[in-house]
Amino acid sequence: MSSVMKTYDRINLSFTKGEGPWLYTEEGKKYLDFTSGIAVTSLGHANPELINTLINQAKKLWHTSNLYKIEPQEQLADLICENSFGESVFFCNSGAEAIEGVVKLVRRYHFNNGFPNKNKMLVFSNAFHGRTIETLAAGDNNDHRIGFAVNTELFRKVPFGEMGEIEKLIDEETAGILVEPIQGEGGINLPPDDYLLFLRKLCSDKGILLAFDEVQTGIGRTGKLFAYQWSEVLPDVMGLAKGLGGGFPIGAVVANKITSEVLSPGTHGSTFGGNFLAASVAKEVLIKLLQPNFLDNVIETGRELMQGIRFLSDKYKNVITGVRGRGLMIGIESKVKNVDLATALRDEGLLSVAAAGNIVRFLPPLNIDRTHVKIGIEILEKAIKLINEK
Ligand SMILES: *Cc1c(COP(=O)(O)O)cnc(C)c1O
Repeated sequence: MSSVMKTYDRINLSFTKGEGPWLYTEEGKKYLDFTSGIAVTSLGHANPELINTLINQAKKLWHTSNLYKIEPQEQLADLICENSFGESVFFCNSGAEAIEGVVKLVRRYHFNNGFPNKNKMLVFSNAFHGRTIETLAAGDNNDHRIGFAVNTELFRKVPFGEMGEIEKLIDEETAGILVEPIQGEGGINLPPDDYLLFLRKLCSDKGILLAFDEVQTGIGRTGKLFAYQWSEVLPDVMGLAKGLGGGFPIGAVVANKITSEVLSPGTHGSTFGGNFLAASVAKEVLIKLLQPNFLDNVIETGRELMQGIRFLSDKYKNVITGVRGRGLMIGIESKVKNVDLATALRDEGLLSVAAAGNIVRFLPPLNIDRTHVKIGIEILEKAIKLINEK
């Protein structure tokens, strides 16, 4: 009997070793990991350069608290700001904590400007922002909220992608809009092309803040460093986590010029946030992603993977009905239950992850190449055949 609390209905499978996109069980059975620990291990498992960075830092200094200046954190913040709209960055440890920070910043911005009642946010159908009390309130999963006395009063839900009604929902108490540029847990949902621009204009017109949850879409996942960079739109603030540390826990709140000093000394904090280990590894992750051609390769392998899936969806219409996504954030639409497809894939040696809307997600490491795409597609075809035999 496991002493671990049963918050997860775990698959009876565990791994003892990883290498690039491969995971190995104790018995040596290997799996192609197209989950990356849910968009986290962006540079694959046991990346030699990340290992070196971590070991070198571990030998020097792990943690001092944020009472002191932390040099790798300074460098990481500079790197994020140089490559985004950012002017300042707050570091924390997870996605939910990043989005908590985003919500706090949005409310405090209006408070500082003399509007303490401007504290409500518009959020979206099928959104996911984390499992803390306030991020549960912002998200759109009622099951997640049951029994936790979550108060959703400060969040108003809008249908994702909708443009007709949203303006009417903004009143003098609205502080901002919180949106995932592409919804992850909600089922790899892409909004209409000009949606972010529409939201940006709306926010600017109304004097409210635009906040992006790039916890899943950020750090190269869609083939740009941040998903918003596919558009011309700049948010006022964004939350990051998942891929940022390549597997080392770290999250971030990135603020633009008008919000960069909202969270002033004493208003917010985190004991662990951006410590020496986390910040050093995350800095190395970003350096790798910013190398020439790295992100182009994400776009290219993503395109090949989607083409392969589309080919199979034409061939096996009774199992797969389509594919959607951007870069290496891919959702497979299936006619069978998503968990059944994921199980068949796993039986054939490929790890995927289910999402809402009966979607199976492929979120492979960002540095996979053609051969991995080819193997992935071969396994997908085998899994489809396995389903058809049943
Ligand atoms: C995973 C996720 C979160 C929550 O991140 P945690 O690290 O699990 O707290 C928040 N927002 C989005 C879009 C996510 O995908």
